[in-house]
Amino acid sequence: MTLHRQIPHVIVVGAGYAGLPCALRLARHEDVRVTLVSPDVRQELTCDLYRTLRTGKPYTFAFQKLLARRGVRFIESRVTNVDPANKLLELRGINQQALPYDALVVATGLRSVMPAIEGLEDLYQQNKENLSKRIFQFKKTSHVQELRTALARIGWKPESRESRDRFVVVLGAGSTGIEVAGELAYLRGNNKRCRIILLDEHPSMLKDFSPIARKLFRKDLNRLKIETVLGSPASRLSAEELHLQNGQVIPWDLLVLCTGAKRTTTWLSGLASAENQVGLAVDESFEIKAHPLHFAIGDVARYTINSAPLMNPLILPRRAQFAVQSGLYLADRIPLLFKNFPHQNHAAFRASDLGYLVTLGPHDGIGRLGPPASSRLAKWVSPFVHGASVDKLKNLVRVRYLLTLKREGYNPF
Ligand SMILES: Cc1cc2nc3c(=O)[nH]c(=O)nc-3n(C[C@H](O)[C@H](O)[C@H](O)COP(=O)(O)OP(=O)(O)OC[C@H]3O[C@@H](n4cnc5c(N)ncnc54)[C@H](O)[C@@H]3O)c2cc1C
Repeated sequence: MTLHRQIPHVIVVGAGYAGLPCALRLARHEDVRVTLVSPDVRQELTCDLYRTLRTGKPYTFAFQKLLARRGVRFIESRVTNVDPANKLLELRGINQQALPYDALVVATGLRSVMPAIEGLEDLYQQNKENLSKRIFQFKKTSHVQELRTALARIGWKPESRESRDRFVVVLGAGSTGIEVAGELAYLRGNNKRCRIILLDEHPSMLKDFSPIARKLFRKDLNRLKIETVLGSPASRLSAEELHLQNGQVIPWDLLVLCTGAKRTTTWLSGLASAENQVGLAVDESFEIKAHPLHFAIGDVARYTINSAPLMNPLILPRRAQFAVQSGLYLADRIPLLFKNFPHQNHAAFRASDLGYLVTLGPHDGIGRLGPPASSRLAKWVSPFVHGASVDKLKNLVRVRYLLTLKREGYNPF
């Protein structure tokens, strides 16, 4: 009689920039079985949403059939609960018994939170029911398409002859907010009646860029007539006006929320502790603290870098390149754990920061090349790109990601 060895079952939850490459790389290892759970059957390339705003073209691709060819079992569902003690997952809409696993990889990203602005939540809820939406998130293709419809409705185009100014307020001047403002400027061309207000409670933008790059960036904003209001938080929203803490009042027709994502989802409460509500605290191998064989990668992981070369001790930034790197690293590490390969012999994770690109429409933008400088002097001489090449480089970054998936055996082209 032949005895079959029990093959460890690894479940990856979430098919974003971290989860999809992780599941594909895991499937290369014959000594684990892989299941990927995701409510989406297409991956949304969030880094390219700004381009969807420009053209209307979605940047998504279907992965389900090809996963099967790679031997990854795919379950189209959302995880609703985890029982880490018994290693069981509950899935929405699946009435059978909970799904057992030997190792769990959480790659669910972070949930957006509404900024704490009086009146915003109420107006947002009313707005959801309304066909003439005026408040928008910016995280999915559907959000962007809704925004494009609303822009068309208010006559946001180069040649419109409206008699009054229309205001689109972009709340949050991080890289997403800046890119949204850049596309809005491109779409309205020279139409002076279409006003873009980029707003943030922080007094400065792109803090870890070189002072020279930031100066060029500010010049671009002026030339593109993107108005910035920085350094005071928004405190109250009425149907027509946004009030800031410093007393300024800004009229608005459309409001785009680019204030970032902060919360883990509630199903993770079995793994989370009070202090890591903005991510699951993981050790240097992405294992969730106090939960052996439970891992978190990508945005949902709170990973502290202590000794990575070329970087100061910091929390690994929440960006696509690190999501991919963490996913691939972990996929090679998990099979070793099941072979009892000594922990100290595992290769350490090395984050490699290729840089940071921020477009302002197709013709403008600024990009830091390589990791952020560690001293003030180094910042002055740190390399950057400027102008139309930023958009072209972002295109290459997408191709690079798709090539990574191709190398892992999945051809999205
Ligand atoms: C508009 C925008 C622009 C960006 N631009 C850039 C950029 O230019 N460069 C850059 O480096 N980074 C950029 N980022 C950040 C980048 O997108 C994130 O760092 C990256 O998506 C993180 O990958 P992830 O796999 O951790 O999470 P995600 O890509 O968010 O994927 C998480 C997946 O988990 C799924 N999921 C959630 N809950 C569950 C559940 N309960 N059960 C099953 N599945 C679940 C979700 O549906 C989703 O598919 C941008 C982000 C946004 C929003």
